[in-house]
Amino acid sequence: MSTFIVLLGPPGAGKGTQAEILAEKTKLAHVSSGDLFRENIKNQTELGRIAKSFMDKGELVPDDVTIKMIKDRLVRPDCETGAILDGFPRTPAQADAFEVILTELKGRVDLVPYITASEEVLVARTGGRWTCRAHGHIYNQTYNPPKQSGVCDFDGSELYQRDDDKEEMVRHRIRVYLKQTMPLVEYYRKAGRIIEIDGMQAKEKVTAIVLDALKNSGSRRDFSAEM
Ligand code: AMP
Repeated sequence: MSTFIVLLGPPGAGKGTQAEILAEKTKLAHVSSGDLFRENIKNQTELGRIAKSFMDKGELVPDDVTIKMIKDRLVRPDCETGAILDGFPRTPAQADAFEVILTELKGRVDLVPYITASEEVLVARTGGRWTCRAHGHIYNQTYNPPKQSGVCDFDGSELYQRDDDKEEMVRHRIRVYLKQTMPLVEYYRKAGRIIEIDGMQAKEKVTAIVLDALKNSGSRRDFSAEM
C-alpha cells in the first residue's frame, strides 16, 4: 500500500516549502500541480497554453485537465511508494477523482496536514517570494533569503517572481481557495486524516509536527529508519 500525503492550505501557508523538506526526509516524490503547470508553460505545450489562461487570472485550471495531468504523473516509477501532494486535490471533484486513482494505484491518503496563517502573513510571504527557474526551489526575501541575491542556492539558476504572486492576485487566490478548496478540509476531517497546523511557526517546527503525526498515522510504511 503506497503512502500519499496531501498538503492543504492557502497560497503562502508554506505547502511548497514543507513538501520539499518532507520529500527529502521521507524519500517520497514531491508532486506539485502548480510546478507541473509551470513546466508545461515553459515547454510551450498545449496543456501549458490552457493552464496559463487560468493561472494568469488566479483562477483554478479546469478539473478534467488537472486530474489527467496528475494521473499521468502519479503512474511514473518514482511514485511507486507514494508521494507528497502539493496543490492537488484542490476541489471536491478532484478529491473524488483522486480516490479512484488511489484505488488503481493501491495507495491511500495517510495524512493531510492543513497549514493555516492569517491573510496578512500570506500576502507578505507570497509578495516576497522568489522562485528558482530550474526546479522551483522557493525563497523569501525576508524570511528565507538565498545566499546570493537572485541566484538559487541549490542549482545556481535565476530566481524570479511569479506574476500570480503580486498582491492583488494573491488576495484573489486566497478567495478562490476559501471557496473551492476549503470544502476539502471537511472532506478529509470526516475521513480522520486532517492535522491542523499553525503555519506561522518556524518551518522546522511545522515539519516536526508533520513527521510526528506521520509516524502515528497508521501508515503501512515504516518511516522511522529514514527520518
Ligand atoms: P500553486 O503553485 O499551487 O500556487 O498554483 C498556481 C496556480 O496553478 C493556481 O493559482 C491555479 O491556477 C493552478 N493550479 C495549481 N494546482 C491546481 C489544481 N489542483 N487545480 C486547479 N488549478 C491548479
